Amino acid sequence: MNEVKTQPVTARHIPDKAEFHTHGEGHIPGSFRVVPDDDNEALFWYCCPCGCKRIAALRVGKNFKPAESPTWKWNGSLEKPTLEPSVHHRGHWHGWLTDGVWKSC
Ligand SMILES: [Zn+2]
Repeated sequence: MNEVKTQPVTARHIPDKAEFHTHGEGHIPGSFRVVPDDDNEALFWYCCPCGCKRIAALRVGKNFKPAESPTWKWNGSLEKPTLEPSVHHRGHWHGWLTDGVWKSC
């Protein structure tokens, strides 16, 4: 599958599980919710920014990158989240979430 280039997409926090998963017909591109886990780790659920409406979850650490892989370092912000390194969604969207904005690369 070819990678999709998109305009920057704002990451919108949707804390409610049902709302995140069932909003309207599908999901809001770039929306996310965080499910805390042990040891300051969490699952970072997000809807692909490209508009395909698929969702996925990343294992993140709050202000650190967990030792196992693949994992991401999350800045802990729900307002202006940043993830490192870049996010590759199922081989078709590749980009960065920085200060609350998804940007394809
Ligand atoms: Zn997509």
